[in-house]
Amino acid sequence: MEFEYQKLLKKAMDNLPKKTATKERFVIPDLAYEQQGNKTILKNFVDLLNVLRREPRHLARYLFKELATRGSIKNNSLVLDTRVSRENLMRKIESYVQEFINCKVCGEPDTKLIKEDRYIFMVCEACGAKTPIRIL
Ligand SMILES: [Zn+2]
Repeated sequence: MEFEYQKLLKKAMDNLPKKTATKERFVIPDLAYEQQGNKTILKNFVDLLNVLRREPRHLARYLFKELATRGSIKNNSLVLDTRVSRENLMRKIESYVQEFINCKVCGEPDTKLIKEDRYIFMVCEACGAKTPIRIL
């Protein structure tokens, strides 16, 4: 009996719409944050971008602009040529998520960026909205 229930439960979970899974998946991981002299290093940068489903270079460009600094991506890490507090960095990443990941219409994070001519649009897989976004 219990076995049947488990099986049904599993089936129900498997059939849940993708949306629910998205919310689950979309938790910004803890920043593997480090300061070395005048540099700030995010050691799990590429992992973070895999969760956010964006190009690492895109968020890197955003952070360079926002923090008025330069830096580089090395393996899994982002190196910023300035000192930034963990809180400040987290706030910037949250703003990035707001601007470049969350759908402007329904708020779902299940979006992708597509390039058309000289414009970049955010296309939402949840509601189908297509919104132009700022080019970094
Ligand atoms: Zn949407």
